[in-house]
Amino acid sequence: MDKGKSKAFEEQDSDFLKLNLNLFSSSPSSSSSSNPDFQYSHPMQNLASPDTIFSPSSSSTPALSPITQPLLNQNPSQRAVLSPQPPIIPQNPNHVPLPAQRSETIPVPFPWATDRRAKLKSLRWLGDNQILTITGTVQCRTCDMSYEIGFNLVSKFVEVFNYIARNDDNLYDRAPVVWMTPRLPICKNCGISVRPVISEHKRSINWLFLFLGQMLGCCTLEQLKYYCKHTGRFRTGAKDRILYNTYLGICKRLLELDDLDN
Ligand SMILES: [Zn+2]
Repeated sequence: MDKGKSKAFEEQDSDFLKLNLNLFSSSPSSSSSSNPDFQYSHPMQNLASPDTIFSPSSSSTPALSPITQPLLNQNPSQRAVLSPQPPIIPQNPNHVPLPAQRSETIPVPFPWATDRRAKLKSLRWLGDNQILTITGTVQCRTCDMSYEIGFNLVSKFVEVFNYIARNDDNLYDRAPVVWMTPRLPICKNCGISVRPVISEHKRSINWLFLFLGQMLGCCTLEQLKYYCKHTGRFRTGAKDRILYNTYLGICKRLLELDDLDN
């Protein structure tokens, strides 16, 4: 019974779509949305690269403990007696080792992803860096063949964006059938459909590839919730709602309309 919240959510998302409709779909100067040779230029050229792969900080030399320090201040004769035995630092009997800390950063899984869980680079960054084809692995369940395919970033993005822009008023925050049951690519070997290979490690899921191919519906509810959790999206309800939020979240991230950067 969260219709009020849902409505506010919907209106907010609808606003963003209306505001950005002219980006791709109806600009009188652009040739058409089907033009794959999208030229992306932007005054912000020197974006800091978030590509840094996390490496644990090197172990630092522990400072002298207050217990060992007085030993060094003793006179030489006392030190001579003590020197064969290294000082013993008493352990705190109540010390409980902490569980391994979960790092904020992860190894960057794809050139179009960042070192933060589920967070993608923006369309502008990808354009500036000439990353215009997004690849991923698919596998045929009939002949078992697996291989890589690629999607044109701009034309596929425009396809999804225009779909949302045209239909958002009728979606009511829920993914349509075409997203819940994706149309899958045809196997180049046997002609039956292939499915995307989705990493069992959620941090390595190829979100942008699935988004562009409109195959996010192949993810489990748990995987979609992971995306929403790590990108600050609403993540309760049935799969159609979480799937809708994932599509909208990726769309906003690519356009840098999410507010997670600061
Ligand atoms: Zn096949």
